[in-house]
Amino acid sequence: MRFRSVNPYNGQLIKEYEGHSDEDVKEIIRQAGNAFNRWKEVPFEERSALMYKAASELRSSKEHYARIITLEMGKPLNESYAEIEKCAKVCDYYAEKAAVFLKDEPLDPPHGEAYVHYNPLGVVLAVMPWNFPFWQVFRFAAPALMAGNTGLLKHASNVPGCALAIEEVFRKAGFPESVFTSLLISSGQVKQVIDDPGVAAVTLTGSELAGKSVAATAGNNLKKSVLELGGSDPFIVLKDADVRTAATIGAKARMINTGQSCIAAKRFILEKEIAEQFTDIFIEEIERMKFGNPEDKSTVYATLARQDLAEEIFEQVKRSIDMGAEVIYGQLPGKIESAAFPPMVLGNLKPGMPAHDEEIFGPVASFFIVENAGEAVAVANNSTFGLGGSLWTTDIKKARELAAHIESGAVYINQMMFSDPAVPFGGIKNSGYGRELSHLGIREFTNQKTVWING
Ligand code: NAP
Repeated sequence: MRFRSVNPYNGQLIKEYEGHSDEDVKEIIRQAGNAFNRWKEVPFEERSALMYKAASELRSSKEHYARIITLEMGKPLNESYAEIEKCAKVCDYYAEKAAVFLKDEPLDPPHGEAYVHYNPLGVVLAVMPWNFPFWQVFRFAAPALMAGNTGLLKHASNVPGCALAIEEVFRKAGFPESVFTSLLISSGQVKQVIDDPGVAAVTLTGSELAGKSVAATAGNNLKKSVLELGGSDPFIVLKDADVRTAATIGAKARMINTGQSCIAAKRFILEKEIAEQFTDIFIEEIERMKFGNPEDKSTVYATLARQDLAEEIFEQVKRSIDMGAEVIYGQLPGKIESAAFPPMVLGNLKPGMPAHDEEIFGPVASFFIVENAGEAVAVANNSTFGLGGSLWTTDIKKARELAAHIESGAVYINQMMFSDPAVPFGGIKNSGYGRELSHLGIREFTNQKTVWING
């Protein structure tokens, strides 16, 4: 199979790449296994030194890597710079903390001495999406490699340039051969990789459909899997909130990455007393954001990463409107002729409508008006997803109580949802299972081994 890197802003072909054959894949897995046998014995200090070098490489060649992202998936350049910086941060974080997080952990057994010892699992496959094409990979690779695993990356088919550039970061940092390798393969070849006895575990960040398929193959092989899937995060604003700040941040939380973020705020749940004020400020904010060429540093949002993604959103919005959704802001285009999709706000949403039930992976906000905080939580929980959430109120005691009742992997109070190396990240329900980042993330791909000494 050949992989095409296409600039979504102008539709121009950047480059074509020849994919790996099934035979190539077998050999790459074998080499990653050999590399694992050596890498797992490398002391933490040496692994850290290399990971710090990866961070330096990212920072010193930020312009180079950021441009690859922007040209290949259409993210505004300023967001690409921030993404590269964040990757460097996660490398530094695990370079510093891995040895602490994986230190033997004393237990309190009924007799003798016992502890948990952490061993790496082996070759880990990462199946990754295009939306944060560097960050998603580094947030897996930095902890997984620091724990002593070796990594294989199957990146999304539209970002082969990013896949190879990430391999270049680790090579330039001086990592040994085959500790991190990008496989240029189709989604159809993923099963072969998971089935291979040389692969120990798999992590997937992507859609529910892909997650189910990968988890089924992993389950069939009794191999560990971690899934980071879609979300339809609630953004709850109570009547006692700082409405201006909430609406300003809310607009940013919906529009970040042109709406293509798993943890973008997607369902805005507003207490009726502040709904009108919130809506007015939210729309003003969106109108202030500049659409344009992602290479232009003043651009705030751009086209989506592919035309078919815009077509999918068109269908979701059209079906919602046909079923009675109200267009509060924006206008549905007559038809989709490029990768662009305009910002829209929809209201009067009912179960069964795509804008109520599904994840909309683009600049479309779903608005819900509720009578009180209890109803807000009920609406938030009325979703098959459970990734993140944001709650706005000046009553922090009440916020803590409500946060405990929200069904999601995270609730952020008086701030938008975002990820940070120090804070666990992951979902429940159809948003997946397992955690990335923090001390929890690095332990996912380890054998948490009990050692108990009698005496
Ligand atoms: P996707 O279609 O599921 O693709 C993600 C990755 O899975 C790609 O590498 C894709 O390869 C591969 N893939 C697709 N179907 C597969 C299958 N049946 N078996 C094995 N691999 C398969 O998702 P996407 O549209 O690129 O990304 C958007 C989705 O990712 C959204 O739902 C978003 O919310 C989610 N996401 C979640 C997180 C999180 O942390 N929870 C973060 C970012 C994005 P091909 O490209 O070759 O098809």
